[in-house]
Amino acid sequence: MARTPSRQLVPPARVAEIAELAEAVADEHCPNGGVDPEAVADANGITISFGPYQSSFDGMLEHRAGRFHIYCNLDRVRRRDSPRARFTLAHELGHYYLDEHRNALAAGLAGAHGSQCQYESRNLVEQEADHFASNLLMPPRRFVAAAKGLPPGLEGIMSLARRFNTSITSTAIRYAATDVAPCAVIKWSWTGYAWKWLSTEFFRARFRRTIESRESVSEGSPTWRALNRELPPDNGFFEAGTTASAWFPSVRQGQLRDLLFIEQAIPLGRFGVLTFLYPLSEKGVRNLFSPQSDTNPFPGH
Ligand SMILES: [Zn+2]
Repeated sequence: MARTPSRQLVPPARVAEIAELAEAVADEHCPNGGVDPEAVADANGITISFGPYQSSFDGMLEHRAGRFHIYCNLDRVRRRDSPRARFTLAHELGHYYLDEHRNALAAGLAGAHGSQCQYESRNLVEQEADHFASNLLMPPRRFVAAAKGLPPGLEGIMSLARRFNTSITSTAIRYAATDVAPCAVIKWSWTGYAWKWLSTEFFRARFRRTIESRESVSEGSPTWRALNRELPPDNGFFEAGTTASAWFPSVRQGQLRDLLFIEQAIPLGRFGVLTFLYPLSEKGVRNLFSPQSDTNPFPGH
């Protein structure tokens, strides 16, 4: 279970429950290969409209006269089959499949609401639907099996994104969340820090609070170059070696904890920049685990 200390509102047990439900839906309706959220909607009698609805929402689930309908906003998701459109449809399916969401909508307790998808919301209900979408489009067992044997970092993530037809951002989050390898994913908008995801191993090694301002990003680093709109190499991202102390303010230069990391940064067009950090040695991270404080939150009792 990945941790996002700064913004995760959904309790871990609920995250696991949602993942299980989404994977069961994927296995029932799209047991092989990629998951098609339009087919899942169709199988449930849910109709979909794609249209230019201006910039206020990505998607919306409406309940009227006993029927559910999804609006998907082409002004924001661009194409009907884009990764963002697929995530939006999967997110709205989350509002349908999660009992509390569907019942509230059907009972008229929750009006049709516009969803801002892809982890942009700090609202609990929206985060639950995002978890559902992520696990529907990238079912955990299929994702972990596909990730095995791929090159580490963004190269592997880009390959997974092509395979699952998902965005780089949602794929990188899924990669951290399923603990494929120790890593941190940090998202920047063009105006500054946005959010991060840490793999469990980073959390346990107490690599938690990262730098959170553009000014703290080392000049000339991959992230700095991407944020300064330099053109990346042909593979699509910048890469260089870095240290834990460059990214985690609690680590001082030269400490045992000042491990070597690979830093990669990929420009995401209008969505900003994604930084991906992983250690040169996974063992180095595991050596820093503090199992005592993890298993016993009240030492001395
Ligand atoms: Zn929503």
